[in-house]
Amino acid sequence: MMTDTLGQNAEPSWDEEAEVVVIGGGLAGHCAALELAAQGVEALLLEKQPEIGGSTVLSGGSFAFAGTELQRSNGIEDSVAMLFDDLRRVGGFGNEERLVRVYVDNQLDTYHWLAEHGVVFEKVFLAAGHSVPRAHSRNPRVVLETLAAAAQASGRVSTRTRAAVRRLVRTSSDGPVEGVVVDVEGRQRAIRALRGVILASGGFSRNDDLLKLFAPTQAGAMRAGGPGNVGDGLRMAWRLGAGMRDMGYIKGTFGGYPGAKPGEHALMLPIYVGAIAVNAQGERFIDESKSYKLIGDAVLQQPDATGFQIFDQRIFERGQPDIPTMAFQAKFALGQVVSAPTLRELAARLGIDEAGLTKTVDAYNAYVEAGSDRTFGRSALSNGYGKLERIDAPPFYGYPSKSVIVATYCGVAVDPGMRVCDVYDTPIAGLYAAGEVVGGLHGNAYMTGSSLGKAAIFGRLAARGALGVARERAGASA
Ligand SMILES: Cc1cc2nc3c(=O)[nH]c(=O)nc-3n(C[C@H](O)[C@H](O)[C@H](O)COP(=O)(O)OP(=O)(O)OC[C@H]3O[C@@H](n4cnc5c(N)ncnc54)[C@H](O)[C@@H]3O)c2cc1C
Repeated sequence: MMTDTLGQNAEPSWDEEAEVVVIGGGLAGHCAALELAAQGVEALLLEKQPEIGGSTVLSGGSFAFAGTELQRSNGIEDSVAMLFDDLRRVGGFGNEERLVRVYVDNQLDTYHWLAEHGVVFEKVFLAAGHSVPRAHSRNPRVVLETLAAAAQASGRVSTRTRAAVRRLVRTSSDGPVEGVVVDVEGRQRAIRALRGVILASGGFSRNDDLLKLFAPTQAGAMRAGGPGNVGDGLRMAWRLGAGMRDMGYIKGTFGGYPGAKPGEHALMLPIYVGAIAVNAQGERFIDESKSYKLIGDAVLQQPDATGFQIFDQRIFERGQPDIPTMAFQAKFALGQVVSAPTLRELAARLGIDEAGLTKTVDAYNAYVEAGSDRTFGRSALSNGYGKLERIDAPPFYGYPSKSVIVATYCGVAVDPGMRVCDVYDTPIAGLYAAGEVVGGLHGNAYMTGSSLGKAAIFGRLAARGALGVARERAGASA
C-alpha cells in the first residue's frame, strides 16, 4: 500500500499490476483499450464515475472523417488534403501542424476500424468549420456501448468503475511513470503499469476553478459535459511537469438552451441550415456561417449573453431527428423551440424587440436576394458551403441560445506518438494521452467532429505508443 499520497519520489509498494493502465472510460479510453487488446495486451480501464461514458455519451455523436464511402454515396467530394486545410484554417494556424497531420493520416483507418467493431455511421452532414459535409453521425451512447462490448468480448480488457485515479506514480523526478494511485471506495491502491499509463480522462468543462484560471472571459457561458470531467488528468500530468497547449482558446459553443437540465443534450444549430442569430434587440451580431465557437464568443458580448436562432418552416423541415443538434422537432415538442405565425408575434413570445426583428429579417432577405450580406458578409451556410435562402415561409421559429462550454479542447502537450511531453518538449517516459485531455490539435477554434475524432484516433495511437509501435508510423507522416 502506498503511503506517500503525493505519489512521487516514494518507494512504491504495489498492490497489483497491470500491463497498461487506461484512465477514463469515455471514447478515448475505450479505443485505447480495444487497440491494446487487438495487440494482444491486457488493459486495466479505470473510470471514476459509477458508469462509463463521460462526455462522449452526452455528445452530438458527430465525427469528422474525410473521403469515406458514406460521403461518396451521398455525392460528397472530400479528401485528406481538404480536411487538413480546414483543420488548420479553423484553428487559425495556431494548432500543431504535426498533430493535425497525425489526425488526417489516421482518420480513414479509424473510420474503417470503428466499422469493424460495429460502429457504422448512418448520416453525414454539414457542420461548423466544414467546407463540405463531413460530420459522420451515430448515437454516441450506442457507439460507446458497442466499443465497451467489444472490449469485454476481447477478454483482455478489465473495466473498473468508481475507481478514481488520484496520482501518477514515479519514483524519481525524471524517471518514468510506473503506475497510479487509485481510490476505490475510500481505499487507496497502488497499481503498477508494466507498459505505461494512458491518460484518457477528458477535459475540465465541469471545473469552475480551472475555467476561471484558463478562461476568465467565459464566465458567462453555461457548462456541460460529463460529471467526472474536472481536469484530474490535466492536473496529474501538470504536477509531473507536462507542457500544455491551447489553454488560452477555451470557448463555449453557441446554441445551448438556457434552461437545459444537467445531462440533457440541449444544443441546437439551425444556423447551419439557414437560420440567423439575433440578440434581444432583434439585431444580428455575426456572420452565422462561422464556427459556433466564434459565435459563442460573440454571443457573450450581447445583452444577457443571450441570442436567438430565428428560422422559418422551410428550415424547420430540414431538421433531422437522429442528429441531436438538428433535432428541431424534438426541441419543439419540449417547448424549447417557440413558433408563431408572424415574426412580430414570434418576437413578442421570445421577448425580442418586435420592430428590430422584422427590420433585421427584411434586411437579411434583401441581402440574400442581392447575393451580398452588407452587414456581416455571410455568403454560405457554413465555411463557404451551401446556399442561403430567404426567411419568409411561416410559421416562424425561435430558439433561445447561449454559449455553453461542452468541452475544453486544450490540454497536455503530446508528440505524434501520443507521449506526454514536459514543458521543455521532452517526453515523460511511460505516460501517454488521448482524447479531450490532449491539447494542440484544435488551435484557436474547433471543427465539429474533431473532438470525438481525436478521442478515437489518438486513443488508438496512444495504445500503440505505449507498445512502441506508433512512433515510426507517426514519425513517417509528421
Ligand atoms: C453536449 C455535447 C456535445 C458534443 N458534441 C460533440 C460532437 O458532436 N462531436 C465532437 O467531436 N465532440 C463533441 N463533444 C465533445 C466530445 O464529446 C468530447 O470531447 C469527447 O467525448 C471526449 O472523449 P474522451 O474519451 O476524451 O473523454 P470523456 O468521454 O469525457 O471520458 C473521460 C472519462 O474519464 C473519467 N475520468 C476523469 N477523471 C478520472 C480519474 N481521475 N480517474 C478515473 N476516471 C476519470 C471521466 O469520468 C470520464 O468518464 C460534445 C460534448 C458535449 C458535452
